[in-house]
Amino acid sequence: MIKVEQLSKKFGELTVLKEINIEIKKGEIISIIGPSGTGKSTFLRCLNLLEKPSGGKIFIDEVDIMDTKNDLNHLRQKMGMVFQNFNLFEHLSVIDNLTIGPIKLLNKDKKEAVAKARELLQLVGLAAKEDAFPDELSGGQQQRVAIARCLSMEPEIILFDEPTSALDPTMVSEVLGVIRRLASNGMTMAIVTHEMKFARDVSTRVLYMDEGIIYEEGTPEQIFDHPQKEKTISFIRRIRNFSYHIADNLYDFYDLRAGIENFANKHFFGPKEINNLNLAVEETLQLCFVEGNAAERNRIIRDHGGIEIMLSFAEQTRAISLSFAADEALGTILNPVEETDGLSRIILSGITEQLEETLSDGKVMVTMTLK
Ligand code: ADP
Ligand code: MG
Repeated sequence: MIKVEQLSKKFGELTVLKEINIEIKKGEIISIIGPSGTGKSTFLRCLNLLEKPSGGKIFIDEVDIMDTKNDLNHLRQKMGMVFQNFNLFEHLSVIDNLTIGPIKLLNKDKKEAVAKARELLQLVGLAAKEDAFPDELSGGQQQRVAIARCLSMEPEIILFDEPTSALDPTMVSEVLGVIRRLASNGMTMAIVTHEMKFARDVSTRVLYMDEGIIYEEGTPEQIFDHPQKEKTISFIRRIRNFSYHIADNLYDFYDLRAGIENFANKHFFGPKEINNLNLAVEETLQLCFVEGNAAERNRIIRDHGGIEIMLSFAEQTRAISLSFAADEALGTILNPVEETDGLSRIILSGITEQLEETLSDGKVMVTMTLK
């Protein structure tokens, strides 16, 4: 359906896409993952000519879309795009957002366009909102309207550029739900996303992009479970883990929380899992800093490189593990000599399956797996 040959893109001196070769077949659902700044958005924008490629060829149904003889608007209509920031027409109601394109560009009559729009609003769960304006809707609802608007143009493929990354975490799943539904209806899609569990479940093929090339591609199992190349391996490892460095007891509690929450949301942890995770972090830090001679312990931690927290998640078993490492000069984390109260340890043993302290490589380390 789409064939890309030797696609490249430069912005002035900066080469963003080097040499992209890919074929997308009808019915495929392709996830594009990779670090930010590697050209994922530029790739999608070049595909539907929102950006003019610097070199290479793009064929849709065997028609070269960079050949100026061809009817660009018609070809572009085959490819819908959903953006991070919805890009709805703010001054138009929901129904008008969905009918303006079909009426003006597909020459549909109003009645037909409205009937189709209502059907699509039903599909995305927003039948009740046809007279609302975009600013009266939540981010998740606006993005669902944007998807319906895209469908109203009857595209053959939809390109999604991080459709959930501008959303409040509570609204991510309603949008992913709609995309899953399109997938099960057989829509051809290419989706740039940071939602790894989603990418794994929904896609037929995963492209890992790095520094302007498709660095590795494969089935979700190949890319997520058995990546072959160095950068893919390190990227996959990074998204499975969250690490955080704490210098001393003046660490930024809110920043740490936000990082944990972000990681938890990415992997769709439930409220109980998130709660236990936060509790495990807080209580372990309490043991690190507060139990025993607090001033002395803080001085040791500060002078010996702080504390490294590492959080990891195994998708197969859904096990959440945590580790805390400090210099051995701290002596012990779990069993401070002068214990002021044992509450933290009682809480920790209540929420963990396995909890242990080890000494190795000059580090004292506490590891735990949550229940
Ligand atoms: P990603 O989507 O993977 O995060 P982008 O495609 O947005 O990456 O950007 C890739 C690189 O291209 C970045 O270095 C970005 O700064 C640069 N870039 C993107 N768009 C433009 C533009 N219109 N002009 C100049 N540089 C751009
Ligand atoms: Mg991007």
